[in-house]
Amino acid sequence: GNTGSFRGELIRAVKRCGARRVVVTEPGEWRIANDIEGWPAATGLPVEVRADTRFLCSRAEFADWAHDRRELRQEHFYRMMRRRHGVLMEGGAPVSGKWNFDADNRKRLPESVVIPSHPGIAPDSTTNAVLDLVRQRFTNHFGALDGFDYAVTATDAEAIFERFVAGELSHFGDFQDAMRMGSPTLFHSVVSPYLNIGLLDPRRLIERVERAYRDGEAPLNAAEGYIRQILGWREYVRGIYWLRMPDYARTNHLGADRPLPAFYWSGDTAMRCLAEVIGDTGRLAYAHHIQRLMVTGLFALLIGARPDIVNRWYLEVYADAVEWAQLPNTHGMALHADGGVVGSKPYAASGRYIDRMSDYCLHCAYQVGKTLGPRACPFNALYWDFLIRHEGRFRRNPRMTMMYRTLDRFTDEKRSEIRNQAAAFLATLD
Ligand code: SF4
Repeated sequence: GNTGSFRGELIRAVKRCGARRVVVTEPGEWRIANDIEGWPAATGLPVEVRADTRFLCSRAEFADWAHDRRELRQEHFYRMMRRRHGVLMEGGAPVSGKWNFDADNRKRLPESVVIPSHPGIAPDSTTNAVLDLVRQRFTNHFGALDGFDYAVTATDAEAIFERFVAGELSHFGDFQDAMRMGSPTLFHSVVSPYLNIGLLDPRRLIERVERAYRDGEAPLNAAEGYIRQILGWREYVRGIYWLRMPDYARTNHLGADRPLPAFYWSGDTAMRCLAEVIGDTGRLAYAHHIQRLMVTGLFALLIGARPDIVNRWYLEVYADAVEWAQLPNTHGMALHADGGVVGSKPYAASGRYIDRMSDYCLHCAYQVGKTLGPRACPFNALYWDFLIRHEGRFRRNPRMTMMYRTLDRFTDEKRSEIRNQAAAFLATLD
């Protein structure tokens, strides 16, 4: 019997309890923030919107930082945050003299490395009742309920995080971009759902990981890489979201206009990388950043899938997806639909990248070493086709010089074969 909207329920609640004012935490979505502006008139009450303490950088502080900057690069923001909050700093300089260990954090995962496996949190009676409710009411929705083992309390979320610090953290840096069949979470902490719904405090996570480094529990590249995700990237994408909305969501810089293939909802594709990541996403409502950026995101970028449809998919399938987090990551970073606000170049790559960072290609019906022919990896022709299609836009991008230099070595005949191969593949998606 509820009204089906925040505003409708607010009006009912105000009447029911005889409220004299409304106090609300700032929301995570522009749509809701916009709606809140109409609450004083709708309720006849004063409405106070308070800052969301789950972040270290307020919207006003981010706007101050962004003011007058030609480019809003995450790395510059991150360094400012490290200085401002004194994280991994020594006498005004970064610990060990380096801000960023990204170059050390892209190792391929050797087969010999054993991935730890931990039992999750067994659902209690309340969680089981909610699972039953979801089972009854949302039968046709994407995702799986069986095996649900996420924490639903702050205590359990803390315990999961502590287990990560004691175990996986020391390998997080080296293998944060790696992917392996059957091990979707690898050395990732999988706490983003808890952070984004408020079960964990980002300040505590940052302090704990810095302490782990200083106490010799974790190497610097792991601690820095982890802290950058929270103090840098998480705060940065939220800042970008509030700075640029609502126009940000409407941009489509590359004019992408294709629908998302149906297999994004089923995982039913012969492309092993996509089948694996989409399957894991359905089971866990989670995929780590490289799976999202360089598998599902990369494919959507290369085929030219419509940003609004892709954004909606990411928002619907991930447990940590709140629009402030999802939109800059998908729309900006993965699809380059924002024209370069968050990334100075599109994250376009061929199947070789996926092969380097995973074992998916070993189990695939396609051959990653081939660009042409019936068994050629589709990412390869799509990648070159993407570069050719957007040549006018990206040829002068200094970060893409190498890519176009390689393309320049192709004969006209080869370019045309690639374009035909990509077109034939795209036709199979329709
Ligand atoms: Fe994906 Fe291509 Fe590798 Fe198959 S060969 S897993 S489609 S990158």
